[in-house]
Amino acid sequence: MEKMNLEQQDKQYVLQTYARDYTNFVKGVGSTLYDENGKDYIDFASGIAVNSVGHNHPKLVEAICNQAKNIIHISNLQVIEPQAKLAQRMVELSGYDMGVFFANSGAEANEGAIKIARKYGETKFENKRYKVITLEHSFHGRTITTVKATGQESFHTPNFSPYPEGFSYEKSIEDVYKAIDDETVAVLIELVQGEGGVQPFEKEEIQQLAKHLKEKGVLLIVDEVQTGVYRTGEFLASNLYEIEPDIITLAKGLGGGVPIGAVMTKHKDVLVAGDHGSTFGGNYLSTAAGLAVLDILYPLYDDGTIDETLVYFSQKLNKMAEKYTHLFEKEVGLGLMRGLRAQSAEVQAGVIKNCMAEGLIVLKAGRNTVRFLPSITISKNEIDEGFKRFEKAISSL
Ligand SMILES: *Cc1c(COP(=O)(O)O)cnc(C)c1O
Repeated sequence: MEKMNLEQQDKQYVLQTYARDYTNFVKGVGSTLYDENGKDYIDFASGIAVNSVGHNHPKLVEAICNQAKNIIHISNLQVIEPQAKLAQRMVELSGYDMGVFFANSGAEANEGAIKIARKYGETKFENKRYKVITLEHSFHGRTITTVKATGQESFHTPNFSPYPEGFSYEKSIEDVYKAIDDETVAVLIELVQGEGGVQPFEKEEIQQLAKHLKEKGVLLIVDEVQTGVYRTGEFLASNLYEIEPDIITLAKGLGGGVPIGAVMTKHKDVLVAGDHGSTFGGNYLSTAAGLAVLDILYPLYDDGTIDETLVYFSQKLNKMAEKYTHLFEKEVGLGLMRGLRAQSAEVQAGVIKNCMAEGLIVLKAGRNTVRFLPSITISKNEIDEGFKRFEKAISSL
């Protein structure tokens, strides 16, 4: 049999659920990736906000290797030392009095959050509150329940029906107030909508909502799967917005590339033994990775390096928005979660394609946003080089 190339192999044996690019990356260092031909790419995507400390960070690599040499996994029926340490670290960094449950992905973290909210509603209220309100243009995951929680009609295809009941979507925060009834148990929101187009909400608007929900006894669940772990400049976007949610979910950047998800909640007694669980969730390998990520990032937060990076990145991006108004409407986002709202979907697609050809990885979001999610540890040199390539890439558009 003739040997297949990688693309043929992928197309024959991997279910084709992604519109894939077929560049074969074989090595990464910091925010630079190399393909099989030795061509280098500046990585402004960090695996969709996952490679929070870049590629091949020596401290993360060392932590993973050392942990693998001892124990990769024992079940959650045993106490797991790095899991307990990571939970404590996350709670301390957040500043909230919370407990943590570990899962393996963002969708799974949101499933856990919804279970906590549902049980809270079931046990605390005579009429058993169960409804969850989310927002249009939100994204909460790909499981049946989190797809249903996602406020984008295109996700609710009848192909996968029936979906769980009790989810509704509102156009704006303002509309959430009107939608709350006596069966509403929780409001689930992203503070910066990522997949929906890198759209941050106003701080005052969120603070008012948080206050209102508290008065009504409705839980506030903040999906920080993308915004968490210093993406916005603070450990959590909730810290930046100065609110205290009931439940927070995390995933993407927490393990630096090792799959991990987490639910944090101040309602520590809602779930009891047997209510929820995960075979892999919070195992030795993923939590050792999580600890290493926080050990790398916290000092950079503390000494102002992260702040400097995001200001520097922001200034560069701002220049692009100002200079290329025929391509971009405006700059959106905050921290290291940013976008350029393109004039059209065609411009968006053209920019992403040309960038790839020039050796720069950027992402799409929403219908017409070019999205930038660099690693939190990206260097000024890599930012400079990335924007040099960006300008070259868009010059022909
Ligand atoms: C990526 C993302 C998810 C889903 O995470 P998975 O790990 O892909 O399940 C959920 N919510 C938000 C806000 C996300 O950005």
